[in-house]
Amino acid sequence: MLKKIVIAIDGFSSCGKSTLAKSLAAKLEYVFIDTGAMYRAIALFFLRNGVSFTNEAEIKEALQKINLRFEYNPSTEKSDMILNGENVEILIREMQVSSKVSEVAAIGAVRDFAVAQQQAMGVEKGIVMDGRDIGTVVFPNAALKIFVTADPQVRANRRLLELKATNPTITLQEVAENLQHRDLIDSTREHSPLKKADDALVLDNTNLDRAAQFEIALNWAKERIARG
Ligand code: C5P
Repeated sequence: MLKKIVIAIDGFSSCGKSTLAKSLAAKLEYVFIDTGAMYRAIALFFLRNGVSFTNEAEIKEALQKINLRFEYNPSTEKSDMILNGENVEILIREMQVSSKVSEVAAIGAVRDFAVAQQQAMGVEKGIVMDGRDIGTVVFPNAALKIFVTADPQVRANRRLLELKATNPTITLQEVAENLQHRDLIDSTREHSPLKKADDALVLDNTNLDRAAQFEIALNWAKERIARG
């Protein structure tokens, strides 16, 4: 039996982290957790219920009413985000949520709430988790930490292609501005800002296709698993 490890994947918005994490998890038969979906679902709940982003008591009360879980969807071969029993996988990817999620994710109480659940999911190891603070805060002892980067223009173009499928009128400028906005808040916030862990391996995929990126990461994973 090979030893199971924790693989932490962090990086800026729309770097292809989730795609990489999902394929690594499938290959290694590990559990894949998209932590961004958790922050997006919390942001959706706050927006729907008019929760103030600055009123601590209101935030804490709202968090007590939130139940998050993932449910496997065989048609996409990915787990959908379920918020209080409702499948919100499509809704949480919309611009309305994307434009506010970083403000919500910067709130300390929100991070404590999400991180506790993420750490519980990793107790058994055999997990690939992607986000912004996985290698630095959630699993500082992860056996493999990958920090994914890509040129901002390339990222915006990739994201535009994805979003066009459900939102044909969206523009490159809108997408690029949203990415810049989130990167700025994510990397400058007070609580667990996005940064490369000292021991993370950097994977710049600007000029790599999915298969090439996957090969590199898989080799790193195999090497770390073999170390035992
Ligand atoms: O990964 P994704 O782009 O869907 O994440 C949405 C937002 O959630 C990010 O822009 C960031 O503000 C927040 N996030 C975070 N910490 C994580 C994962 C996501 O702050 N571990």
